[in-house]
Amino acid sequence: MGLFDQISRTIAQSVDRARFEAEKFQKTTRLQSEVNELRRQIDSKLNELGQRAYELLRAGQIQSATLAELSTAVDQLRSALVVKEEELKQAQAEVYVEPPAPAPPPSQSVPIDYGPPPSSTPAVKHCGVCGFQMPGTAMFCPNCGTRVT
Ligand SMILES: [Zn+2]
Repeated sequence: MGLFDQISRTIAQSVDRARFEAEKFQKTTRLQSEVNELRRQIDSKLNELGQRAYELLRAGQIQSATLAELSTAVDQLRSALVVKEEELKQAQAEVYVEPPAPAPPPSQSVPIDYGPPPSSTPAVKHCGVCGFQMPGTAMFCPNCGTRVT
């Protein structure tokens, strides 16, 4: 067999292999979903069967210790469900409540000292150096800059 034939054969083989893998993937994917669907249907029918058995047992039409046990378990779960559903309803109805404003710390409750009340301050005063008249609250003479007390 020549080199060309060997290359052709190799290419043909890898094409075949790729096609095989693609078809295998498609096939297994399809089968997997069919298997899942059948399982789902079986679960659904079993659920229906259980429902019927439960009703017949509760109606006293069938006697079975095993079924009675399962039915009791279902009743207990349903009771728990009712309680849990109520809990959920209450949790859903909860609304955010603003917490009360915290009391200010003691240091802030002390009144700020604004100095002596205006009544004890003369309305006007005069600079001791230049005699400039200024408001009684002034600390420095606006004219010469001397500190006035
Ligand atoms: Zn002055």
